[in-house]
Amino acid sequence: MMEDQADASSEEFANARKEMDKLVYESLKGREVKPNALFAKLSDLTRNLPPTKELVNWARVNSLWPLQFGLACCAIELMDFGSARIDAERKGYLLFRGTPRQCDVMIIAGWVTKSMVPEIKRLYEQMSSPRYIVAFGECATCGGPWWESYNIIKGIDEVLPVDVFVAGCPPRPENLFAALIKLQKKVGGNIEG
Ligand code: SF4
Repeated sequence: MMEDQADASSEEFANARKEMDKLVYESLKGREVKPNALFAKLSDLTRNLPPTKELVNWARVNSLWPLQFGLACCAIELMDFGSARIDAERKGYLLFRGTPRQCDVMIIAGWVTKSMVPEIKRLYEQMSSPRYIVAFGECATCGGPWWESYNIIKGIDEVLPVDVFVAGCPPRPENLFAALIKLQKKVGGNIEG
């Protein structure tokens, strides 16, 4: 008796579900969902054509994702770079991300102690590829005032490949913005690596 009741209610449930699916299908029929800038997928925009190398390159150049990461006083300048005054997003330099897996740009902002080298290398290896490094300021470029220190390396290029160097102690946020534009040209193949 109980089993018969259970069979009947599951059949009713299946029928109700079919009916609901039919109603939803009917209500959507004839409505074209147009892609828009916010919610479109790449395949919508390219009208089912596979993305060309140029399109991928264009997207890569105009959406650089920096890692939220600072080492010393240059990181204060980096914070200023992220402010509305510079407004770096207008050039495709997007939000600082908290995980290296979502980033493709690492800005070395500050001096690099020998004990930090393995940690910086680990972060670099976790970043998505292709990935880029900007040496921001004298310390990251050559050791800066700590040139002869026993525990600070003479530039991050001793351990990782640097794409762009930014001079200054402290370096200006505007110079980092200029360096970004240079990096974009390099990523886009407009200047030699
Ligand atoms: S370059 Fe100057 S401002 Fe930047 S971390 Fe070195 S000492 Fe500090």
